[in-house]
Amino acid sequence: MLSLYNSLSRREEPLPDQPKIHMFVCGPTVYDYLHIGNARTYTFFDFFAKLLRARGYEVHYLQNITDVDDKIIAKALTENKGTGAIAARFTEAYFEDMKALGVDAVTTYAPATQFIPQIVAQVERLIDKGFAYKIEGDGWYFDIAKDPDYGALSGRTAAQAEDGVSRIDESVGKRNKGDFCLWKFTQTSLDALEPRWPASIGEGRPGWHIEDTAISEFYFGPQYEIHGGGVDLKFPHHEAEIAQQESASGLVPFVRIWMHTGALTVEGKKMSKSAGNFVTIRDFLEKEGRHAPALLRWMAFSHHYRSPFDFSERALAQAKRELETLYTRCMGLHRFAPEDVPAEWKDRLNEALDGDLNTPKALSLLMEATKGGAMAPGAKLAILSLFDAMFGLDMAETASLSDEIPPEITGKFEEYTSSRSNKQFVQSDALRKELEGLGYEVRDAEDGSVIVKKFF
Ligand SMILES: [Zn+2]
Repeated sequence: MLSLYNSLSRREEPLPDQPKIHMFVCGPTVYDYLHIGNARTYTFFDFFAKLLRARGYEVHYLQNITDVDDKIIAKALTENKGTGAIAARFTEAYFEDMKALGVDAVTTYAPATQFIPQIVAQVERLIDKGFAYKIEGDGWYFDIAKDPDYGALSGRTAAQAEDGVSRIDESVGKRNKGDFCLWKFTQTSLDALEPRWPASIGEGRPGWHIEDTAISEFYFGPQYEIHGGGVDLKFPHHEAEIAQQESASGLVPFVRIWMHTGALTVEGKKMSKSAGNFVTIRDFLEKEGRHAPALLRWMAFSHHYRSPFDFSERALAQAKRELETLYTRCMGLHRFAPEDVPAEWKDRLNEALDGDLNTPKALSLLMEATKGGAMAPGAKLAILSLFDAMFGLDMAETASLSDEIPPEITGKFEEYTSSRSNKQFVQSDALRKELEGLGYEVRDAEDGSVIVKKFF
């Protein structure tokens, strides 16, 4: 039985016992290339959807795409292009990145601009019920003082909410500092670049938070099982979503389980363009080559999804080493016929995942199972397929490679070991470099050196 940590109740809860699971995960704002922190979140929820499906659940995995936003307008201004062109370009880039990463479990992508009537209708309901008020010449705002539960997810009071206001929400005329914008009237100051839609509530464009609830209500109704996203979205974004949907429908809870992925830092610091430590998904994939997507996934799954994750050169080197060890063990397994996954081992895997998706434990079970002599080769092969289907680690592909080291390499390696034991280190270092150039790495250990194929 799968249990998941619910950010709202702050404890583990069982997954709702029903055959169909509705899961919404916040998609990107399409004004730039995504970074590896986004990759962590999306690879995690991709894995999670695949796990649920493997366990027999029908999963509707829904993701919005924020294609109308202040950041898109700002980019359009600097590039002297239309907002539509900017959004289209980076939506395409997002799909390319996800495809490259093997993230393919999303059922429906929903761009906000295709749901304007639903957004307007939800704002109208909030106005009718007295939760929204108008600021002339500015827009419609949600009055957080009208929602006594506001702040429950993030653990803030309405008075503490003021520091969370962002983007479109600034206005001097607000009742409470933490009030957020539902609908922004067309501003003449932003000239013709600002996207606008005629509406009964006044010509304008949607606020950020309202698109998610309008889209999820359209597909899932006013209540559903799982909402996910990065921890940075918890406040104010997800808090605002709860306020909007529960106020509009009068039904509680909006979402049964809130799941948040931990923050990703680079070399111990928050990623930012100004700090020069911003790593885009495409830069990473280009730099690390053929198995880069698996490498990124390996790094992500080596951390529990809620834990902070520091991406560093050291962590990267360690992940490469681990994955290379794993790949070396996989090579040559194609010669065997797959057998069943041993039941006892599968129980241990399920137990690890049942406890709030302990992927580091799952990876250590994988390492244990692939060790020499741990299991029959056919059982190993079956385990690799099982893992690849959920985790996407390229193991089946590696298993199809020959595990025989070419005689040319073996010869040089023998020369290496003998020169090393004769303490001819200049010669042994030269041989090591030569082997590296040929795609092999020498690893020295106390009980002798080994040679492994390099994958990175
Ligand atoms: Zn969102």
